[in-house]
Amino acid sequence: MEGVKSIASKSARASGAVTAASPLILLEQIRSTIVACERCERLRTYCRGIGETKRRAYLDQTYWARPVPGFGDPRARILILGLAPGAHGANRTGRPFTGDGSGDFMYPVLHELGLATKPRAISRDDGLKLRHAWIASVVRCAPPGDKPTPQEVRNCAEHLAAEVQTLTRVKVVVCLGKIAFDGYLAHLVQAGVIERRSAYRFAHGAEYLLPNGLHLLATYHPSLRNTNTGRLNTTMFTRIFLRARELAGLD
Ligand code: SF4
Repeated sequence: MEGVKSIASKSARASGAVTAASPLILLEQIRSTIVACERCERLRTYCRGIGETKRRAYLDQTYWARPVPGFGDPRARILILGLAPGAHGANRTGRPFTGDGSGDFMYPVLHELGLATKPRAISRDDGLKLRHAWIASVVRCAPPGDKPTPQEVRNCAEHLAAEVQTLTRVKVVVCLGKIAFDGYLAHLVQAGVIERRSAYRFAHGAEYLLPNGLHLLATYHPSLRNTNTGRLNTTMFTRIFLRARELAGLD
């Protein structure tokens, strides 16, 4: 953490413009706030418990077992929004979609399209970096059965709002699944960008131009439930991100 702040400070001094470094510092503050959050007692108890009992394959590992902050390029033009950390994925590794089946499906696509430096996400110190993209979720703690309560989603909205406000270069938001889509719409209502959610319907491939000029894209979530059954395949998923790249002006 000090490293990031130090780099930001040096950058500011070198350029003579303190504001140029402020997004890095803000993102670091947001990260610290998220990691320390204890607002949802049910989820915090569940995540700690998973970290103690572990899955047999990971008995030798120390689980992260804390809220999982967003991850990626501070100058991102594409925001990728998921549902929540996987109990034995991001709740174990501490980085979104890292060390689980959803990530195994998603990162090769991001890598193929130049949005990730590696095709596999194994641990938070595996060296993988995102380019032009930021990954976050509407709920930062793994929920039992992948089902957060509406109140838990509302509790966590503040963290998403903080990241969104700081990632000022974002042009496209890709929502992975309906819960992420609804969570982002709730954020837009709260932020005064849209009046109501009813004009926006979730469907794989749905695309909307928002009143603030951002583009909203929806895809089925890359969960094993969807990818193993063929509801979502690599071609379908790649098309969504090709379109995201295009709308973000990356082509
Ligand atoms: S889900 Fe979000 S609001 Fe709830 S404890 Fe985790 S980080 Fe905090």
